[in-house]
Amino acid sequence: MKLATFSCDGAIGVGVVDDARQTIQRVHGAASMLELAQLPVSEILERLEEPRRRLDEVRLLAPFLQPRRNIFCIGWNYLAHFEEGKDTRPPVELPERPSIFTKATTTVCGPYDDVPLHAGTTERLDWEAELAVVIGRGGADIAEQDALEHVFAYAVANDISARDVQRAHGGQWFKGKSLDGTCPLGPWLTTSDEVDPAALNVTCRLNGQTMQHAHTRQMIFPVARIVAELSRGMTLLSGDVILTGTPEGIGGSRVPPVFLQAGDVLETEVSGLGKLRNRIVP
Ligand code: MG
Repeated sequence: MKLATFSCDGAIGVGVVDDARQTIQRVHGAASMLELAQLPVSEILERLEEPRRRLDEVRLLAPFLQPRRNIFCIGWNYLAHFEEGKDTRPPVELPERPSIFTKATTTVCGPYDDVPLHAGTTERLDWEAELAVVIGRGGADIAEQDALEHVFAYAVANDISARDVQRAHGGQWFKGKSLDGTCPLGPWLTTSDEVDPAALNVTCRLNGQTMQHAHTRQMIFPVARIVAELSRGMTLLSGDVILTGTPEGIGGSRVPPVFLQAGDVLETEVSGLGKLRNRIVP
């Protein structure tokens, strides 16, 4: 099932997307995605409202307009991406456990929203196409073999990053990863029963040119391991969003480097989960 947050006729609702028919139906009485995530599928289906709207009649928004807390992110989860950055940073070994950082909640924006260039703050805004994981049933100390049962859904995200700001604050990535509007998310959530997270293609295109293309089986730490590691001694909550790392092909590691410019169109796609399309604006 595909679930989206959307606005239509001046109201915000959550609904079920029919990707093949390009339509959406509001779920009666559900005010947010977090609420929807608690409902059994049978009840969601019983509460579908008429009329069915065409997707082009509504505006799709980020699935979570205000996430409960920061977006969790995994760094260096594809070997080729770890290798491509070697010349641009001090020497570091490939970590034995996932590298973890977060993006502020105010980074989250919709699947087709404009992304600000932040020209006064950064000269090196860069893309990172990623598979996003949404936690359903929370918990701490989740065993790896049980971890996928805690995943509610998957989505597409771009961990847009200000490379110069990442480096400018004592090696802490938080600020460089947290500029406003730098986490396009969506276009909807696809529930976990329909997704094998190790069988997905992740693609990023800039102005129509493919910049990143990889398969999630190449992840160093698969989704179950990420959920298990994150939850060690730290309770994961329903609605938590985890970005699982980006493949090779970021702009900062290209020769010469390529950074986002006003007017660029960034497309981020995960096979079967949909596509984000964001224009970079001054
Ligand atoms: Mg990333």
